[in-house]
Amino acid sequence: MERKIPLVDLAAQYQQIKPEIDKAIQEIVSAGSFIGGKAVSDFEKAFSSFCQAAHCIGVSSGTSALELALKARGIGMGDEVITTPFTFIATAEAITNLGAKPVFVDVKEDDCLIDINSIEKKITSCTKAVIPVHLYGQMANVSALRKICDAYNLFLLEDCAQAHGALHHNKPAGFFGDAAAFSFYPAKNLGAFGDAGAVLTNDETLATKIRMMRDHGRFSNQKYSHEIIGTNARMDALQAKILSTKLPHLQKWNSARREIADYYTNKLKGIVITPTEIKENIPVYHLYVIRTSYRQAMLQYLHENGISAGVHYPVPLHLQKAYSFLGLAKGDLPISEKLAETVISLPIYPELPMSQVEQICQMISDYHK
Ligand SMILES: *Cc1c(COP(=O)(O)O)cnc(C)c1O
Repeated sequence: MERKIPLVDLAAQYQQIKPEIDKAIQEIVSAGSFIGGKAVSDFEKAFSSFCQAAHCIGVSSGTSALELALKARGIGMGDEVITTPFTFIATAEAITNLGAKPVFVDVKEDDCLIDINSIEKKITSCTKAVIPVHLYGQMANVSALRKICDAYNLFLLEDCAQAHGALHHNKPAGFFGDAAAFSFYPAKNLGAFGDAGAVLTNDETLATKIRMMRDHGRFSNQKYSHEIIGTNARMDALQAKILSTKLPHLQKWNSARREIADYYTNKLKGIVITPTEIKENIPVYHLYVIRTSYRQAMLQYLHENGISAGVHYPVPLHLQKAYSFLGLAKGDLPISEKLAETVISLPIYPELPMSQVEQICQMISDYHK
């Protein structure tokens, strides 16, 4: 291999739209208005319309989006929130940081998404919310989950950090939830040049509360009059402007990801376990994840051949040291544990040349000869 193939290449995306981005950055720097303001409200309008939601509140990260949505709903000490352990830790941290308890249910082996059938038996009088995670860019069964949440009066918060523009029954990620949390961490399908996030909701009361909470508990026209205890979780104007510039390209980028994923699946099917696509869904392949029972050897082989494969995620949350206080052990959530030992993320990003995808497929197929 003459050249390494990275897992993602953010510089390649910048090069593709450099004049637009440079102009956007210049505008913000020249205006000298760096926090909130028109750049943020413009992005909020554009993103809520893209996601068919009534309200979008731009915040400082996906983690703060999750936390503020739960907090605005009044979730805190003594409450339980159901989610999966097979996700990035931020999903559970948002729960724990409010003094509430994450209650883990397992995922399904074929699609790595929350097992809807395991949820009802975990509901107690303390359960207040469910957070499904649209892992790798494919949506969990939120239409079924909506019915469960309605029946038990639970808050449905979609973790959309990996699923900007993904569809389920033709509706975009964030559509079925009472609220949805998005991350614009640079490597996400829609990424800022630093940290940023957003909450979507159709509930005006909730939206108003989150708007205040992100900005020290005040209304936007107040300076030193604070209605509630908030925090500083505002979105930077620079990030908002960059996101507004990138948003019109998102559909095209997501299509490019799907094309790469289709190519991988066609070539690798039968050689390794390829991702399962649910027929009601159109995924956006934040990650392209295969599975093998000889993960370590395979990773080493790929790395030796210049391919930056990754693992998302190697340790399920219930087995993380940070969550040892929950008292869960190996064997408690067996599917998540098995997935954590077998998943491999292959390079995928919109600018990845097909010739390199082809090389990667060839290499994996050579390994199995
Ligand atoms: C990235 C991510 C988050 C956290 O987003 P940040 O913007 O990094 O705080 C939350 N949940 C999932 C599933 C993620 O992938």
